[in-house]
Amino acid sequence: MKALVYGGPGQKALTEVPKPTLQQPGDALVRITHTTICGTDLHILKGDVPTCLPGTTLGHEGVGVIEAVGSAVSNFHVGDHVLISCISSCGKCAFCRKGMYSHCTTGGWILGNTIDGTQAEYVRIPHADTSLYAIPPETSEEALVMLSDILPTGFECGVLNGKVAPGGTVAIVGAGPIGLAALLTAQFYSPSRIIMIDLDDNRLQVALGFGATDAVNSGKGSAVDAVMALTDGLGVDTAIEAVGIAPTFELCQGIVAAGGTIANVGVHGHKVDLHLETLWARNIAITTRLVDTASTDMLLKTVVARKLDPARLITHRFTLDDVMAAYETFGQAAQSKALKVIISP
Ligand SMILES: [Zn+2]
Ligand SMILES: [Zn+2]
Repeated sequence: MKALVYGGPGQKALTEVPKPTLQQPGDALVRITHTTICGTDLHILKGDVPTCLPGTTLGHEGVGVIEAVGSAVSNFHVGDHVLISCISSCGKCAFCRKGMYSHCTTGGWILGNTIDGTQAEYVRIPHADTSLYAIPPETSEEALVMLSDILPTGFECGVLNGKVAPGGTVAIVGAGPIGLAALLTAQFYSPSRIIMIDLDDNRLQVALGFGATDAVNSGKGSAVDAVMALTDGLGVDTAIEAVGIAPTFELCQGIVAAGGTIANVGVHGHKVDLHLETLWARNIAITTRLVDTASTDMLLKTVVARKLDPARLITHRFTLDDVMAAYETFGQAAQSKALKVIISP
């Protein structure tokens, strides 16, 4: 079968590899119908994720059809249409029992990292009973790819950790797919303001269309001043960091109101400064989290009920044969205006 295989920093290739087989009784073999590329895949290609070894098939998001199940799989059957969670969970270990599936001792984020992932014709899913979700009939399967990772990530690491509340004020730093996922799901809680901050005017325009109340281009003047002007000089109750670099984390520290929360979502490859000299007396909280995908079932229900429309995040479509072009388009988002690209084998 064809798979996009990581070849070490800066290297990837669409390669012919053996079709995966069941290895454990809890495994399922899924034929991929749609997958996508994540910012995390670009981090791997930059060499930021040393756990991902050359030879690994990339990708941790997707939907597909079950081709085979191991003897211990009871929730799913051959032919079932399923959503693949980016987090594999055994459901039994101490972390899983706490709902912290991202820290599952035999799972967590392993797909497209320590085991072969979803940018392929087929993928082996360990702990299938607790890592797959049945797709309800008459749902857009393509749109559900957004539920593998980005919507739970924006919601759990940004909105829930950031304690977004009715009437509250929110700033989201970074209007990429994850920031936009946080923007869409923050609106479950009716905050009074959602201020989107980015350097890209196109993405800010998209954010205004997705329900942001204000847009701030941090490349044109002081974003701190702009946020203060929009919040009566108080700052925001929730500052969501959805980029993962030092200047954006610094910005969050400058705009968080007394009593507020900085919810970090970004993948940080380098250390950042923490300004305790100004923040020590301001009653703030800083949260971090790797997505647990504990909210996937809830988010699926909001999609079925049409309260959430993840298809809005899809901008481009490719076949698996054109996966290199898909990476190029996704990697040059400022020029291509790409948000999420769908890849269909
Ligand atoms: Zn991802
Ligand atoms: Zn576990």
